[in-house]
Amino acid sequence: MSVIKIVRISLMNLHEYQSRNLLKDYSIVFPMGDIGESPEEIYNISKSYDGRVVVKAQIHSGGRGKAGGVKLCNSPEEAKEFAKGILGKNIITSQTDSDGVIVEKLLVTELTDIDREFYLSITIDPDFEGPVLIISSEGGMDIEKVAEETPEKIIKLPFDPIIGAKPYELRKIIRSLDLPKEANNEFIKMINNLYLAFLATDSTLIEINPLVLDKKNNLIPLDCKINIDDDSFFRQKSIFELRDKNQENPIETRAKDFDLAYVKLDQGNVGCLVNGAGLAMATMDVTTKSGCFPANFLDVGGSTDKEKIKEAFRILVSDKNVEFLLINLFAGIARADLIAEGVVEAAKETSFDLPIIVSMRGTNSERGFSILKNSDLDIHIAENLGNAAEVLSVLNKRK
Ligand code: GDP
Ligand code: MN
Repeated sequence: MSVIKIVRISLMNLHEYQSRNLLKDYSIVFPMGDIGESPEEIYNISKSYDGRVVVKAQIHSGGRGKAGGVKLCNSPEEAKEFAKGILGKNIITSQTDSDGVIVEKLLVTELTDIDREFYLSITIDPDFEGPVLIISSEGGMDIEKVAEETPEKIIKLPFDPIIGAKPYELRKIIRSLDLPKEANNEFIKMINNLYLAFLATDSTLIEINPLVLDKKNNLIPLDCKINIDDDSFFRQKSIFELRDKNQENPIETRAKDFDLAYVKLDQGNVGCLVNGAGLAMATMDVTTKSGCFPANFLDVGGSTDKEKIKEAFRILVSDKNVEFLLINLFAGIARADLIAEGVVEAAKETSFDLPIIVSMRGTNSERGFSILKNSDLDIHIAENLGNAAEVLSVLNKRK
């Protein structure tokens, strides 16, 4: 059984500065700030804010604070020095892969004096099958630790699909945060505004962490992260124009352009070509059971064709860690013979000569198998997925 929970992976991420701009339309007010792309610009912006500023790397990742991507500065000179050291470099955070992501822009904001830090987000929760509000009194950089060690400090409230957050429930939660009186209403207003933004922008996540209380009891959002549902492209064109491909893994971008779902994994030597998320999970389990580990998986979707398979193949084998290719397909609408032709053509084109283990069922599978067997490829036909694991295990021991 797979224990991996499938949560839809959103590829449309926004930068913090873009998220701030978007939320302006929903009356969410952030500290004043500007974007700069050179040390000189950062110097000038910092100067316009009297030098006491926060400079933040704009990357598609959280955890910047811990990775050295956020700097509290006391002078424009200090901000400039920080910019010099970080612009054009890659930052590796707990949320990026080992290559990290490039810093091309910095956001400079006024510095806020923090009294308390809260966590606030709205996301789609698979358990509630809808948007939920998540709040914690322990916001800031250690929220993952809070979730793990003291989950009772994280409060979840599902939104009612018709009326949104129920006011009495909201008030109850807010009261439990023990805020100064004047901040309570602000907090509730902010949640309602965020929910409007969440719906209107087809977000899958809007996260404000930290949302702080300053020394004067003002409630101020200091950071913001928004992910948009990829399927909303047709009606969120202006948001999708904000896409920053330089922040994406180039192979994932290529896959996306072909409407393929590619996920690179950190270890492993088996490239997995599958169709459908369930089959992908099962394939990963079987691969692990064989003693190997998936290097990646690529889901070509339900109705696939030859060109898509060819691109999928090219993408998978461009991963240097791949020593075996495991193809596990259920040909329903798609035809197994066309898939096989795609595999053979792409393998030839990429001079791929490593073992390919194939488990394939459905429409024209016999014809598909014969195309594969008659090719020059190192094909190992598996009768079923269990058998594929055995074949993989034998091959892996032999290598
Ligand atoms: P993240 O680490 O990527 O989530 O980046 P954040 O923008 O959340 O910044 C990281 C941390 O820097 C926050 O949790 C705050 O503790 C701190 N920080 C950010 N802005 C300010 C600010 O204006 N004043 C102070 N005192 N701390 C800040
Ligand atoms: Mn943050």
